[in-house]
Amino acid sequence: MGRLLIIGCGGVAGVAIHKCCQNSRTFTEICIASRTKSKCDALKEKLQGTTDTVITTAQVDADNVDELIALIRSYQPDAVLNVALPYQDLTIMDACLACRVDYIDTANYEPENTDDPEWRAIYEKRCKEAGFTAYFDYSWQWAYQDKFREAGLTALLGSGFDPGVTSVFSAYALKHYFDEIEYIDILDCNGGDHGYPFATNFNPEINLREVSANGSYWEDGHWVETEPMEIKREYNFPRVGQKDMYLLHHEEIESLAKNIPGVKRIRFFMTFGQSYLTHMKCLENVGMLSTSPILFEGKEIVPIQFLKALLPDPASLGPRTVGKTNIGCIFTGKKDGKEKTIYIYNVCDHQECYKEVGSQAISYTTGVPAMIGAALVLDKVWDREGVFNVEEFDPDPFMDMLNQYGLPWVVDENPQIVE
Ligand code: NDP
Repeated sequence: MGRLLIIGCGGVAGVAIHKCCQNSRTFTEICIASRTKSKCDALKEKLQGTTDTVITTAQVDADNVDELIALIRSYQPDAVLNVALPYQDLTIMDACLACRVDYIDTANYEPENTDDPEWRAIYEKRCKEAGFTAYFDYSWQWAYQDKFREAGLTALLGSGFDPGVTSVFSAYALKHYFDEIEYIDILDCNGGDHGYPFATNFNPEINLREVSANGSYWEDGHWVETEPMEIKREYNFPRVGQKDMYLLHHEEIESLAKNIPGVKRIRFFMTFGQSYLTHMKCLENVGMLSTSPILFEGKEIVPIQFLKALLPDPASLGPRTVGKTNIGCIFTGKKDGKEKTIYIYNVCDHQECYKEVGSQAISYTTGVPAMIGAALVLDKVWDREGVFNVEEFDPDPFMDMLNQYGLPWVVDENPQIVE
């Protein structure tokens, strides 16, 4: 139990904060700090009076390490939960090290400006050496391993749903169902409908970059890259139905390849409707997904940031979205010399999430595990010195809390498999 400083006050943060307030035994005090303080104040106003957790708010520019250090020194938290953007991962980790507090996040580092020549040189070297071209990767944060270990601190990386719950499902499957896992297929299905011709369910910049990038998967010890959306499969998702899904690169593949011994192949699939894909291709073709600034009427604008201003705010989709998500993993491996396959998944209903915390299921499925990761670190249930991904800890307490805090899971021992 203790004090948590939460950085960011967007879709995911909103859910994580609601869930911290449902768990006042662990989170006796929280401070919500973000770029726009009015959003933090509005959430405090909504929640105080409904919870024993004492809530304060603050303004912070999380790109600025000195500002973060000043905030951490004045609030004196036991841990910092980063639910701002992946751009802020390193500055927040630096501030945590300087102030000696534990760190938790939900997404690995990626730079805001991918044209920065210094970053680009390191990126191009990594593309050649590692064999995948995604802008985000774990190398930046794994490089903090010695610093966190020497400081006696925990940095918990990727405590969202995917990465996060999918990674914990993998550790749970290995602990309870297999001697060895050979194949992992991570399936992320959003069967929700918000009624707009085009909108993204979380931060458009992060979402559109991810979807328009090359796909990749891990096989026999190396990465195999594909064209964007090159590999398509159909799957009949329990409680959602038949959907098209496409192979994407995804960050947990990188950490699971390292942490699940002997794994032969890891793939990640996400469902998309044809209308979403057609809109995205068109926006990409006209340059609207670009992160490089252009001059427009004498002012520099970044096309994808302008697009973000035009699209519906993901936080506003909650009341309109109906349907369910189904996210989980299919594992194939060996137990007592016999081959077996299991599917662990969670089904989450958009409208039920909205009724409970005022947001749709995408933010909900990320915000709940963000709270759980923070709780396990704060309560010292997960207590190791250094930088770790969630699958490196005992999965059982996390799995119990998923059931307790709104994301119950199912183990199907006879699932449909993906070719
Ligand atoms: P939003 O855009 O809704 O929220 C981001 C928040 O961070 C906003 O409150 C924003 O402030 C704040 N912020 C941005 N820059 C700064 C800054 N420099 N200083 C202080 N605050 C800042 O994003 P989401 O809530 O959708 O996503 C949050 C995180 O969750 C992201 O890292 C995303 O990648 C991750 N994620 C992880 C998933 C998983 O399953 N693992 C799934 C979905 C998301 P302002 O309000 O002023 O804009």
